[in-house]
Amino acid sequence: MTDVTRRALLAGSGLGAAAAVLPLSAAPVMAAAPASGQQAPGVYRYRIGSYELTALHDGTWFRPIDDKFVKNAPWADVQKALADNFLPTDKLPIPFTALIVNTGAKLVLIDTGTAGQLAPTAAGIGPSLAAAGVDPKAVDVILISHFHPDHINGIKTKEGRKVFPNAEIHVAAPEWAFWMDDARMNAAPEAARPAFLNARRIFSDIAKEVKRFEPGAEVAPGITSVAAFGHTPGHTAFAIASGNQSLLVLGDTTNHPWLFVRNPEWQAVFDADGAMAAETRKKLLDRAAADRMLVQGYHFPFPASGYIARRGTGYDLVPVMWQPAL
Ligand SMILES: [Zn+2]
Repeated sequence: MTDVTRRALLAGSGLGAAAAVLPLSAAPVMAAAPASGQQAPGVYRYRIGSYELTALHDGTWFRPIDDKFVKNAPWADVQKALADNFLPTDKLPIPFTALIVNTGAKLVLIDTGTAGQLAPTAAGIGPSLAAAGVDPKAVDVILISHFHPDHINGIKTKEGRKVFPNAEIHVAAPEWAFWMDDARMNAAPEAARPAFLNARRIFSDIAKEVKRFEPGAEVAPGITSVAAFGHTPGHTAFAIASGNQSLLVLGDTTNHPWLFVRNPEWQAVFDADGAMAAETRKKLLDRAAADRMLVQGYHFPFPASGYIARRGTGYDLVPVMWQPAL
């Protein structure tokens, strides 16, 4: 604030005269708390029936974007959508949030974060796990929505050590079949090769331990996989039900909600089969809106859960309110 505006404000509040005769050095001494300069870990708990869920923030990737980011919309429309939602128009903040489901019998982790391997502003879910009081050794089951690095990298450290040493890993059979097929990797465009190689880095030496499910199957007590193909060939959502409550874990059915929930037809550069991804997106968002169902989105703003409302030709994410008690 400039002196001029401060003076104008003080004059307006009637404090101007007192301030004018009090030199700064004579002002009462105030406690000078040092600025932290750091964000706190992101942990948010809620319940679905008797299940306790813990959302774990992994960080945010500020991804530079250009006219190729949305494959089937004019760049001007994309930039307008960003500006209308108070986002920068040249980079998209893409947050990552993993989810722990405590069923009472099992501790289930859905997607594993980036393990600090994607962006300096995404340090991995370690600090959030620690803040939540969850020992990685206590995780019994890991469910994977798809094999993009931001979802599987948290399985291992950069050095190749398992982060959740006692967890059984479950992946969709078609997702495994696609990424672990050498012929497909060799036929893929050069730009796609790192993702194939990364899937091998994570899974090759533990292949025998990785359980493969057919989408549609129940994968843990009360957790059913839902085929949500398009973003990747075996991309899978998960429906969690306990008591009379349910939650749809969307994974990457939609990326940033202000772009792709609002405009479900828009195909992100990450969508392997753009048309199929848009079809799946509309189907699941429509189901969530019709059933007034709580959803969780891996790239939604923390705590990454809310409701889907129909708005015009698209939808809106209505974020949950912080619940002070469980
Ligand atoms: Zn993702």
